[in-house]
This record gives sequence, structure tokens and C-alpha cells, in this order.
Amino acid sequence: MSLLVVGSVAYDNIETPTERRDDVLGGSALHFSFAATFFSPVQLVAVVGGDWRKEDTQLLESRGVDTTGLEVQPNGKTFRWTGRYRENMDDRDTLETQLNVLGDFEPKLPETYRRSQFVFLANGSTKTQLKVLEQTQGADLVVADTMNLWINVERDLLLELLQKIDGLMLNDSEAKQLTGEINTLTAARKVLELGPKFVVIKKGEHGAIFISQYDIYLIPAFPTEQLVEPTGAGDTFAGGMMGYIAQQGKSDGETIRQAIAYGAIVASFQVEGFGAERLLQISKADIDERLEKFRRMIGF
Ligand code: AMP
Repeated sequence: MSLLVVGSVAYDNIETPTERRDDVLGGSALHFSFAATFFSPVQLVAVVGGDWRKEDTQLLESRGVDTTGLEVQPNGKTFRWTGRYRENMDDRDTLETQLNVLGDFEPKLPETYRRSQFVFLANGSTKTQLKVLEQTQGADLVVADTMNLWINVERDLLLELLQKIDGLMLNDSEAKQLTGEINTLTAARKVLELGPKFVVIKKGEHGAIFISQYDIYLIPAFPTEQLVEPTGAGDTFAGGMMGYIAQQGKSDGETIRQAIAYGAIVASFQVEGFGAERLLQISKADIDERLEKFRRMIGF
């Protein structure tokens, strides 16, 4: 079934303690798409500039991403993000965010996207997320992601968005920032009170917590010894999860639980390479094999 994503498509500059790479293909919607297409085709809504490489559009299409909604603004520049990881490879500092064409992006959904059953509002401006949501009709499930920048600068819009979505995914520290709470679980409950039916709190290498009015559970991160570069872990977690939900065509509690396990597995591959490179090397069979290992690891 159809899965729509809106978010950033970027060229990132990334520094780890051992390596720096520039112009790495990235962005929240791009990482999401590469993960989700292991399960389901994706309809992408995003904007890029005149510096965007045509072969990157071809790469997206070759993976099952519909790029009808990828707007190219020839006179503008693609969104750029520069980040540096600290020694522990978990904490990172954003050195620079150049919104460029993303700054005043007015998303226009192609007609074929408007009735998408599953919608993911990937990390990006809340204003853009709302504009996309307004153009969709009768989606079964709408889930959003956000980050500290948007919690700071678009707080009121974010509170409006929370009333209109089914699920929210965000980092531990962002849930605390949004609610002013210092305990993760209390923060998660407070986010629930703001509107969404469920919240997924991501805790990096410590996994994630799912919470709804009816349910609460933890999902560990799959432990990998091959940690190369973690950018996009959160987006690919969401991509694996939403891709599986779209493939199943339903979003009941059990399906979401299984979907979250898939999200954790896809994210564990993502961190094994720079940018999106690792997901481009693996197959769905690799994901299923690791999911089985994961099941045996956490079963008791
Ligand atoms: P993650 O590691 O899952 O938080 O996602 C990292 C990706 O998000 C990078 O590829 C960036 O291009 C993108 N990104 C960073 N900051 C922003 C922002 N303010 N809005 C949208 N996307 C962003």
C-alpha cells in the first residue's frame, strides 16, 4: 500500500573521530526512503537545488522511490548539514545547517500522492509538515519525527501538528526539551497528552521505548561491532517501521510491534557505513536474517 514521506534531501558533511567526508548523500526523507523501500514503494516529497546530481534521482528511482514529488529549483542550493561526532560516536554537534531551498519550500503534492494510506512527516520544518498533511485525504496512519531545532523555533506549530497525527518519534533529549521533564517516561507520557496516540522515544544505542494509552514496551538496539557512522539511524528506524506497516497494509498494535523490530534492524545496518552506503549493499534477506538473530537475543 502507498507510503508517502516528506522531509529533507541533503548533501551532508560529516566528521567522525577518524574520518571526514563531504557531499554525502543524506537528509531525513532520503534515509527514510532507502530503508522503507526494502518493504514498500515510497512517494517522496522534497526539494533540491541546481547542484543536485541527476544520478542521485536515478539512484532513488532504482530503489523504488517515486520522485514525481521531488522538486528541483535550478536557481537554489540543496539543503546542507554539517555534523561532527564525538569520541563516543553517539553524541554529535551540528556545526552548520544551511536550509537553502528548504527554507521557503511550498510543497505541492502530485495528485497520485494525495490518497496515500500511510504518511511519514520526516524531520524538517513543522510548517512544511503541516502543509503536506493538509493536502492528504483519509490516511490510515500519520506519523511524524522532529528535532531540537524545530522544537525551538516552531513550537506553536508543533503543538498544532501533534493534535493531527497518530504517532510521534523523537529522541530522548527532544522529548525532555518538548515537555520540560527530566525523566524519559514522564516526558513520553506528557507528549501523549499533547495529542498523538503513540510515541516512540529513540535512545540511540540504547534502543527505543514505545508508549501508548494501552501499551508500553522497550526495544533494544541490535548490537553491531561495526559502528562506522550513525547519521540517519533515526530516519532509517522510521523507514523500516513505516515500510513494514505499509507492506502489511494495517497498523494494529501487533503490526506496529513487529514494525518497530524491523526499524531497529534496518537502523543497525545504517550505522555500519558512511551516509546511506551500507543500505545500498544489503538485501531484504540480510534484514530478515538479522531479525531472526535479534529475536533469539531478546527472547526469554
Ligand atoms: P538522524 O541522524 O536520523 O538525526 O538524521 C540525520 C539527517 O537529517 C542528515 O542526513 C541531515 O541531512 C538531516 N537533517 C539534519 N538537520 C536537519 C534539519 N534541521 N531539518 C531536516 N533535516 C535535517
